[in-house]
Order: sequence, then C-alpha cells, then structure tokens
Amino acid sequence: MNSPVYESPSIVRHQMGAMNKFGRLQGVRPLTHIDGVAVADLVAEHGSPLFVFSQRTLVNRYRELHGAFARRWAKVRIAWSYKTNYLEAICRTFHREGAWAEVVSPFEYDKAILAGVPAERIHWNGPYKPDAALARAVSGGSIIHIDNLDELARIERVAERVKARPKVAIRVNMNIEGLAPWSRFGLNLESGQAREAVNRLVSGDRMELTGLHCHIGTFILDPGAYGKAASKLARLANEIRAAHGIRLSFLDLGGGFASKNTLKAQYLLGEQASPSFERYAEAICDGLGELDCPARELPTLVLETGRALVDDAGYLIATVEAKKRLPDGRSGLVLDAGVNLLFTSFWYKHDVVPAQEFSAMQEPTVMFGPLCMNIDVVRDTMQFPASSPGDRLVFRNVGAYNVTQWHQFITLRPAVVMVGEGGASCIRRAETLDDFRAVEDVPAWLR
Ligand SMILES: *Cc1c(COP(=O)(O)O)cnc(C)c1O
Repeated sequence: MNSPVYESPSIVRHQMGAMNKFGRLQGVRPLTHIDGVAVADLVAEHGSPLFVFSQRTLVNRYRELHGAFARRWAKVRIAWSYKTNYLEAICRTFHREGAWAEVVSPFEYDKAILAGVPAERIHWNGPYKPDAALARAVSGGSIIHIDNLDELARIERVAERVKARPKVAIRVNMNIEGLAPWSRFGLNLESGQAREAVNRLVSGDRMELTGLHCHIGTFILDPGAYGKAASKLARLANEIRAAHGIRLSFLDLGGGFASKNTLKAQYLLGEQASPSFERYAEAICDGLGELDCPARELPTLVLETGRALVDDAGYLIATVEAKKRLPDGRSGLVLDAGVNLLFTSFWYKHDVVPAQEFSAMQEPTVMFGPLCMNIDVVRDTMQFPASSPGDRLVFRNVGAYNVTQWHQFITLRPAVVMVGEGGASCIRRAETLDDFRAVEDVPAWLR
C-alpha cells in the first residue's frame, strides 16, 4: 500500500448542489491503463502529450456498426471517411475489416491508394476535385460523387480525354424537418436541381450513374432525421428507375452519427444521449423500405460513418505543468496539451480523468493549454479532483478529427501510439524542428 500523498490545506468555497467538497466524484475512477498498457509506461517511452488509439475499440466499433446494418439490409458497405482520421494505421485497421475509402481531396485519394485501397473501392466526395486527380480516379474506376453542374460537365471532359466511362453518384441535399440544411454541398432535391442533374447526365450518356448520396450533417442526435433522408433518396431512386430504367447499385447515407461525446450545449452526457448504431440502422432501413424494386435488385447501402467509429478509440494523455488559483477561487491547471491538439474542445465538454489515484477533494477546475492565447481552454469549469504538477490526465473520446485538424501552432505536434494485437507501437512520431524547417526557405539576400 502506498501511503496517501500529503495535500496542503486550502479553502474551497462550498458549491450549491454539491453534498460537500470532499464527496467523491460519482463514477470517476483513475484511468491508469489503456487496453492493459500503463499510461505511465506510454509516457515514459513516447513523451507527453501523447495520443493513444485502441485497435480493439476501432475493430469493435466497426463490427458493431456493420452488424447493426447487416442484420437489416442485405448489402452493406462502410466507406471510411478519411478526413475524420487519416493516419495510415487507423485506415488500415478499418480496411482490413472490409471498409472502402471515402475521400474529399487528391491528398486523401493518394493516401488511400498508398494504404492499399484499390481505386475502384474509393468514393470521392467534396465540392472541388482538381482535373489531374480526377483523371486518375476516373481511369482507375473510382466512384465520383458529383457536387454541382459545372463539375458534371468537367467530369465529362476528363472522361473523354482519358477514354473512360466514369462511375458517378449524385450528391443530393434536402430539407429535413428540424435540421439546418447543408445546401452548400450537392444538388438540391426540393428545387428540382438533383433531377435536372440526373436528366443532364443521362442525356449526355458519357457516364454511368451508379448511386445517390447524401450527408445531412454531423453529430445528428435524431435517428428519425436519417429515416426521412433515406426515404427521400429511395423515392428519388424510384423516379430514376421509372423515368430512365436505371437500376442504381447503391444509396449512400453519408456520415454524421453522434459519438459518445457531450456537446457544450447538451445537458445529458453523450454516453446517455447519443443513439446506438441499432437505432440509426432501424430508422435508415425503415426509410429505405420505400424502394420500389424486387428484393434481389435492392441497392447496396453505403455508410460513411466517421466520428462515431473512431472517437471512442482515441485518448489524449496530458500532464499538469502548473496549478494556479484564479481570482474567483477556481483552480486553473496549465496542461502541456492545448486547443491546437484538441480542436474538438471548442464543441465538446470532453471527458477527462486522472491517470493515477487522486485526491478525495474536488474543486471547480478549468484546464488551460500551454499556448499564449486566451482561447486556449481545453476544458471549461467542472468539478475535478485537486491536482498538482506532474499529474497525468487522460482525455477520452478524442479519436475523431483531432489528429487531422490539429495544427502546428506555437508548439510541434506530439507522437501518436496504437495499442493493439502486437502491444504498443508508435504510428506517428513526434514532429521535430527539422521537420518544420525542411519545408522553409530563406531568400538568398537574407542569408
Ligand atoms: C465529413 C464527412 C463524413 C463523415 O462525417 P462524420 O460526421 O464524422 O460521421 C462522411 N461523408 C462526407 C461526405 C463527409 O464530408
């Protein structure tokens, strides 16, 4: 038994609603290990701050998602959303489970190819697809999701040049009760624009219309919204079949399922508020029931789930570097990880726990990053065990978007480790000053 650490006495204002300042935080346990590997060992080897991904959680979430849909729909495809997390080890984990790739830029397209994804298993979305990369994708047989009419015409020209018949889908945006419409992406359904694009495409006869796509938003807590989107896509597919005799090979419902994080404006914890994959699957498959075609001709259901697949698998370990008492009595912890690494702290009340046994005393605490910027707050005020310099903290559910949207601002980016079947392995080393300087240059006259 270790003896308890000595804590210097302090005066803490009593909080309305709290039983007393010594009441243990409900349910909070220290997170000392990630999938059996000690946080202390991870930091000793790879430094702090440190991102850690659990391969087991990645695989479990993927199978959960696939299972929920495959139990209700005959043909299901998951296309991994590269922008959510394109570290190659993460992508390969999903591809090994059978995932295709969903990309939104030439950089992501090339990355998917390098990760071993066959070109014909790539869905390419997004509002801008440069010609040179389009030519590669069209020649390779990738599926291009058309965003606008100018792009439609451009794909035809590229196709003519490379002598190929591109496989394309129309990206559709639509009004869904209760959701702010994402009308800037794709062609609008209600205004007739999407139908116009289909007619234009069919009469041009230079491309193969293979599917319809929609992505109605992100972190959507209402499965019913997907039910409505699915039935609208299904009805459009029926119209296309009736008007042109085209049997679409897939309907793509995009991404947007909520992860277990808690939005800033949310009252309930994400763990309780976020719907399960089962509930999304039920709503979507019900909506697709509107499809009017023989069972053996039913299209493949494509999902581009991003954050809900990878968020839970990611952790960020940080260290308390200093503690200060703010004028209002709150404890202010200065951490070595800031908003440049944890971009999602602008939207979420992140779940953060100590990585070692902690004090029974809790106090209102705010967590700052190391940046010399007022906005660098990684966790707003909450009750948290009294902490001291040297303590490690672990932020949970940070696997989505952070290691793609992080930036090299004031500090360099830290290492990323995967804990998996073969133990713990570095999947992206910490950046060095040389990495940064390698792309810089100084004009001759300043040298
Ligand atoms: C970003 C994006 C996704 C993934 O969205 P999540 O909210 O992370 O699930 C899927 N499809 C498209 C077209 C996207 O832009």
